[in-house]
Amino acid sequence: MTFADLGLSDELLKAVNEAGYDTPTPIQAQAIPPVLMMKDIIGIAQTGTGKTASFVLPMIDILAHGRARALMPRSLILEPTRELAAQVAENFEKYGKYHKLSMALLIGGVQMGDQVRALEKGVDVLIATPGRLMDLFQRGKILLNGCSMLVIDEADRMLDMGFIPDIEEICTKLPAQRQTLLFSATMPAPIKKLADRFLSNPKSIEVARPATASTNITQRLVKVDSRKKRDALRAMLKAEEVQSAVIFCNRKTTVRELNKSLQSHGFKSGEIHGDIDQSARIAELERFRAGTVSILVASDVAARGLDIKGVSHVFNFDAPWHPDDYVHRIGRTGRAGASGVAITFVTPEDAEAIDNIQKLIGQKIEMIDAPTAAAAAPTSAPAEEGRSDRGRRRDSRKDDRAGERNREERARDEPVRDERKQDERKRDEPRAARAENNGARARRPEPVGDGPDEGWNGPVPEFLSFGFQG
Ligand code: AMP
Repeated sequence: MTFADLGLSDELLKAVNEAGYDTPTPIQAQAIPPVLMMKDIIGIAQTGTGKTASFVLPMIDILAHGRARALMPRSLILEPTRELAAQVAENFEKYGKYHKLSMALLIGGVQMGDQVRALEKGVDVLIATPGRLMDLFQRGKILLNGCSMLVIDEADRMLDMGFIPDIEEICTKLPAQRQTLLFSATMPAPIKKLADRFLSNPKSIEVARPATASTNITQRLVKVDSRKKRDALRAMLKAEEVQSAVIFCNRKTTVRELNKSLQSHGFKSGEIHGDIDQSARIAELERFRAGTVSILVASDVAARGLDIKGVSHVFNFDAPWHPDDYVHRIGRTGRAGASGVAITFVTPEDAEAIDNIQKLIGQKIEMIDAPTAAAAAPTSAPAEEGRSDRGRRRDSRKDDRAGERNREERARDEPVRDERKQDERKRDEPRAARAENNGARARRPEPVGDGPDEGWNGPVPEFLSFGFQG
């Protein structure tokens, strides 16, 4: 099957060809024809499956055949995080280069005035996070009556973030006669309810989770002593052929401290988490993309949708608490058919989390012992060369002391900084019941820290609204 078999226009085929893709992914092959036939769709798929193009491509053709730019947005794409919103915008730019359509990106952390001016010019495609869209709506700055196409992307993620009430409200502001596409990695009851209420006779499409289906990611668990994680990481960074790696930690404090520690050992690393201001995040991500730093220490905000080619390794410095996060984290490597390695550090306290991960992905992951520093010595990282053993021992002692301090700090830090995760761990209710609770507007996480709207770590949207034409 080729893209030409899917019924897309010649202009789009040219843009897809120039993007370097010749074979549609399963979600593209299944979704594009019915979307072009104006059907509603429920797509069970997650990032990494080529899902974005599965709705962006047909949307471009549908919008191109409709009336020209109107004063009200003609289509709306809802994304849970700024990063995903920005990535969808990039996709529109890439595939829409031979079309004359305009788009606006409405995300938190960007001056609202600029966004309002962009809207006033009229846009064909509005890509938004629910929080910012609702803000503008409540200020009377936006009308959605002209929106005949709606995409709700990453619906289960929206549910986790407490966005479902906003989405329901947004749905009621759009014309009843519209096409709605809903994408979600899983189908918990509240999402099913949302689909039943707002989609009409949808076609369901399901594709395998990329992380479970793909054999191109080699997964390993590494037994570590919780006090020796940094030693183990450094040893593995040297022993493995790491071209570039994303290292995930569960807490922002750990991200900061691990990055400092790696730098002090001569590794070229950077960090990304919700406490870093927007411009610094963008700069850091660009440095990683460009290869100026080869290691990016990250909190989970970076796990969703981060699309950087050539990430050879993902390390879970901390095993994720939520099994879905595992799938998202490791999906940062092995992208677009490349091979990748995902290594998860496991301490005795992580037993339950690992159990849940293995249940979710339906496979047992091989467990190995942490390499010793000596085992890693022959392939020492160039950055480390020239450092005396004494210097390294001193650093290692310093690290251990810092580790102690960090643990104390973490204990103080936790209740406030990692509220969402804490909340998730504390409550044993099923996910659906949790979502019901999230349903109360007051429960929506504040857009601070690693909260929903702070998750943006994609490329700079210098544009807020622009026409895209080749
Ligand atoms: P997504 O699931 O939309 O986040 O896409 C995952 C990655 O696959 C992105 O890097 C896309 O550029 C890439 N991609 C999308 N469609 C194709 C395709 N047909 N063939 C190869 N790669 C693709």
